[in-house]
Amino acid sequence: MRKIAIYGKGGIGKSTTSANISAALALMGKKVIQIGCDPKADSTLNLLHGEPVMPVMDYYREFDDEPDFEHVGREGFGGVFCIETGGPTPGLGCAGRGIIATFDLLEDLEVFDRINPDVVIYDVLGDVVCGGFAAPIREGYANEVFIVTSGEKMSLYAANNISRAVENFQDRGYAQVKGLILNRRNIEDEREKVDEFAAKRGLPVIADIPRSKEIQRCEELGMTVVEDNPDAPLSRIYIQLAKDLLKEEG
Ligand code: ATP
Ligand code: MG
Repeated sequence: MRKIAIYGKGGIGKSTTSANISAALALMGKKVIQIGCDPKADSTLNLLHGEPVMPVMDYYREFDDEPDFEHVGREGFGGVFCIETGGPTPGLGCAGRGIIATFDLLEDLEVFDRINPDVVIYDVLGDVVCGGFAAPIREGYANEVFIVTSGEKMSLYAANNISRAVENFQDRGYAQVKGLILNRRNIEDEREKVDEFAAKRGLPVIADIPRSKEIQRCEELGMTVVEDNPDAPLSRIYIQLAKDLLKEEG
């Protein structure tokens, strides 16, 4: 089982990228679990035709009870099992704790044993790799990290912080950053800027995703571009990315 975490600056395209990778892996016949680790709980929306799953933390709040297996998530496109951790009531409590509580619950319910996925994708809100947001890369949850970035300065700044934070955990046997995913914002010399950063950190740029209106069009329909048309040029890029992810050593 491959356990992959997708990190990156807020709003950079982590959820879009994660959902398209999951959809592409599903098309390749892989069983996938995607876990949105973000209080906004919007990671898996485009795998579910816009009909959200109830985030685990919302279930706790609403029913004052522990969710059963049937309540932790639902299958979306291609059988991708979609889970959202959710978070505390806005302004109250620690979002990271919600992530950890959800992971504990998934273990108690033996969710991975029941589903037996080939790949688990953790989509992690993360300019900040601290406390709970580091949870997906601690204690063996995810062991491979990919960082989504554009060539924008603040995005590369966040990517730098994330990769340094992961490195700090590394001696404790945690995850490793395996590569960068360029999600373009169409700034000047974008590829060069990302390549320069990649060289400095010794990381490969494993995909170059163009900025595309197709993503918004499909988002309106509650789907990934891969679901909408797997043969479209953009879908081929996501499918190639999914293939390359599988090729990477675990
Ligand atoms: P957050 O940190 O808030 O969770 P995120 O990193 O998950 O954000 P997304 O929600 O995937 O980011 O993307 C933010 C917005 O950017 C979305 O509306 C999405 O449609 C758009 N977007 C992402 N990638 C692209 C792209 N390559 N071309 C055009 N629009 C894109
Ligand atoms: Mg997101």
